[in-house]
Amino acid sequence: MKFQRSPLQLSLFYLIVAALWIFCSDALLLWLGLDRDTLNRYQTLKGVCFVLVTGFALYCALNQYRLEQRRARSALKHSEERLALALESAQEGLWDWDMQSGQVYYSRQYCDMLGYTLEEFGATNDSWLSRLHPDDRERAGQRLKTLLAGRSTHDESSFRMRHRDGGYRWLHYRGQMLLDAQGQPSRFIGTASDVTRRRADEDSLRQAAAVFDSTLEGVLVTDREQRIVHVNPAFSRITGYAVDEVLGKLPSLLKSGRHDEAFYQSLWHALNSRGAWSGEVWNRRKDGEVFPMWQCIRSIRDESGTLTHYVAVFSDVSAIKHSQHELDYLAHHDALTGLPNRLLFGERIEQAIQRGGALLLLDLDHFKIVNESLGHNTGDQLLKLIGERLSEAIGANVTLARLGGDEFGLLSCDCSEADQASQLALELLDSLAQPFAINGETLFIGASIGISLFPDDGDSVEQLMRNADSALARAKSSGRQTFSFYSQDMTALAQQRVRLEAELRQALEQDELRVHYQPIHRLDDRRMIGAEALVRWQHPERGLVPPGEFIPVAEDSGLIGAIDAWVLEQACTQMRRWQALGLQLEFIAVNVSSRLFSRGELDLRVERVLRETGLDPAQLELEVTESAVMDDPQRAEELLTQLHRLGVRLAIDDFGTGYSSLARLKSLPVHKLKLDQSFVRGLPQDGKDAAIAHAVITLGQSLGLHVLAEGIETEEQATYLREIGCPFGQGYWFGRPQPAERLLAVQADN
Ligand code: C2E
Ligand code: MG
Ligand code: MG
Repeated sequence: MKFQRSPLQLSLFYLIVAALWIFCSDALLLWLGLDRDTLNRYQTLKGVCFVLVTGFALYCALNQYRLEQRRARSALKHSEERLALALESAQEGLWDWDMQSGQVYYSRQYCDMLGYTLEEFGATNDSWLSRLHPDDRERAGQRLKTLLAGRSTHDESSFRMRHRDGGYRWLHYRGQMLLDAQGQPSRFIGTASDVTRRRADEDSLRQAAAVFDSTLEGVLVTDREQRIVHVNPAFSRITGYAVDEVLGKLPSLLKSGRHDEAFYQSLWHALNSRGAWSGEVWNRRKDGEVFPMWQCIRSIRDESGTLTHYVAVFSDVSAIKHSQHELDYLAHHDALTGLPNRLLFGERIEQAIQRGGALLLLDLDHFKIVNESLGHNTGDQLLKLIGERLSEAIGANVTLARLGGDEFGLLSCDCSEADQASQLALELLDSLAQPFAINGETLFIGASIGISLFPDDGDSVEQLMRNADSALARAKSSGRQTFSFYSQDMTALAQQRVRLEAELRQALEQDELRVHYQPIHRLDDRRMIGAEALVRWQHPERGLVPPGEFIPVAEDSGLIGAIDAWVLEQACTQMRRWQALGLQLEFIAVNVSSRLFSRGELDLRVERVLRETGLDPAQLELEVTESAVMDDPQRAEELLTQLHRLGVRLAIDDFGTGYSSLARLKSLPVHKLKLDQSFVRGLPQDGKDAAIAHAVITLGQSLGLHVLAEGIETEEQATYLREIGCPFGQGYWFGRPQPAERLLAVQADN
């Protein structure tokens, strides 16, 4: 380390050396024997030298002092500048209050904050006090008192100060009370900064937090990875999840499963492209209930545009939905019966028009009398009961409505055919046939029904209603308790069928059905090998009715089941009887309706009859029409397989009329094809019939099936068919269908 001497020390050193030299040099010169003259000159010189050295030393000391002064000033200036800069960059103003004089120093920045120059602001405590907000004065006074009482030396608080523009600014003060030697406050010094903006921000944050906590809407905030970071109390109230249960989880925890992938895709597309999405979402509460909510989601980005959060605000709209639903219900339903009203009924017809169906208007007969004689209350109760009765009578696919007064409307999309519509009308009239009990009274009420079919009778709601109405008027005028179609032909036809059905029912009960048997022959030796059972109806007035006239009605009304069962039983019993009489037939053939065929349970019935009659299953041949098989080939295959397992033989009737798929045919367990009589009629001349007959025979041969030609009426046909390879035949040429005794007689004759 280099030892440095100040110039003042150096000049003092020179001075001492010079003084020593002056006092000591005389003695030294005298001791050396110097003369007086020389000594005098020497002393003069010495005096000059002393003056010079002293002057030089004084000069050095003065210089040194000036230098030090300058340095100190410069250091002070620098530190003042630094302080000013620091305060400025911190946007702080400085103040310094001398407690003795009452004078206050305010820095330029401090005055700037309030919009004043230093001069305008003033330099006293009053300059400050006069600008302090009146409401803050008391608080300021108390804080100062605390400081002056010596209870604290430090203070920090915010006050509102009036700006030059008349408004107020929040200034935050930090001050330190300095004490004198006696411990008395002497100086209060500190800084101030403008916190108006921060206070406003804090205020709005406080408000936002209050809104977040108290709003009725659920709020959910996630980070950009969609993990939940905040939820409000309403969120918990609506979803049932407590805050702790959802923080850090994904919002998909609320998913109900009601929306498909496409829904969420479009939501995210909107959110990513527009920054917001709103719409209805079905979510699931913690207790599992699925509920609708209206939700707005926004993505939040920071100043640099980076995605930081998602905010979702939602409200539970299940209550609104519910009341909307209720309103909608009230607008579309009849208040008394709860049935759809005319408005809803019209809408339903509108939707159904394209598909086809039937519109029925049902009007109660003489309802006015009920109202007039028993009062409107009873009338209302009766209407309610009638609504219930009718509801029970109809199937799920029928809409029942109360159109007003005593008029009801029915819409069925299953009934585009007159038969089905008249069936429904009859069921409705039937349902009202039983009396109603109201307040101890027994009431009977009838009704009339008008029917229009669409699209035939109209292609608009108005037209269909008008036409059903005119049909209703006709039903009323034709004696009530009945129905009528808009088209009169339809009415006649329908009524005829209704009559037929009623009669057929009676026929079954009164044993008017008969079974006739038609022989089946081999074509080579013409031997009779079997017989087909064919049903007939011995009508008391009309005589013997052929099955073509009543089988379709029986099929529509469901009577076919009973008829076929009866025929099957008769035929098997007859076969056993013939066997007992020694008539050796290979088989008895029985027809099976396509309706039964598709309904199942047929195998059980066949099994039972075989068991009860003791007939060998191999001697029973069941005939199913080709169209019945091809209507539902899969089901047919199952059923035929079940029947085949019983050991019975299976024949496909009316073959050639039903568009068989050969692939299907190959897989069916059938035994025989019965070539339809329409291809036999023209033989042998008709080339087309010949070609078809030929083809069917060849097909049968190649599939290993028996082929039988139906409707052979001439010797020529029988011969021709035999020649082209057909092994079996049936027709008037061999014998007409006839009662069993007669068939036996003919056989015996042969
Ligand atoms: P199918 O099974 O094809 O019966 C043959 C029909 O042709 C019988 O008419 C028979 O009388 C008639 N026929 C027989 N040979 C000749 C002929 O040489 N010339 C002409 N023109 N016709 C001939 P049917 O008895 O009127 O029966 C008609 C249809 O009714 C039957 O056709 C069958 O599909 C159905 N059917 C008859 N009985 C029953 C039954 O008990 N149950 C069911 N479900 N259907 C039956
Ligand atoms: Mg047949
Ligand atoms: Mg046939």
